[in-house]
Amino acid sequence: MRRGQQETILAAVCTLRTHPTADEIYEKLRKDHPKLSLGTVYRNLGALAQKGDILRISVPESADRFDFRLDKHEHMICERCGRAYDVDVDVKIDFREPDAELKGYDLVLRGICAKCKM
Ligand SMILES: [Zn+2]
Ligand SMILES: [Zn+2]
Repeated sequence: MRRGQQETILAAVCTLRTHPTADEIYEKLRKDHPKLSLGTVYRNLGALAQKGDILRISVPESADRFDFRLDKHEHMICERCGRAYDVDVDVKIDFREPDAELKGYDLVLRGICAKCKM
C-alpha cells in the first residue's frame, strides 16, 4: 500500500470533521485522485484505525464512521439526517455482579440533532 494514499485519506478525515463514512471520503477524494478506488479507501481507513491514528465508530445497521478526534467521547446519531456528532457521556454502571471489571465501552446514542429539530 502506498504511503501517500494513506496520508491523503487521513487528511480527508481530519478536514471533513463530520465523522465521514468510507463512501463520503471516497466521494471527496475521487475528483483530485482519480486512481483511488473505494476498496483502497476502505483498506486504508481500517489500517489507520488499527494504528490508532483515527477512531472507528461502529454504527448499528449503518456504515462505520471515522473520527479524527482521539480523546474519549461518544457519538449521537441523528435519526433524521444520519449525522454523527460528539457528545460527552457520564456513565455510571451498576454491574450487578460483584467481581465484574469494566475494560471500556463504546456507546452510540440515537437522537435528533438541533438542525433537524428546528
Ligand atoms: Zn439531523
Ligand atoms: Zn467524534
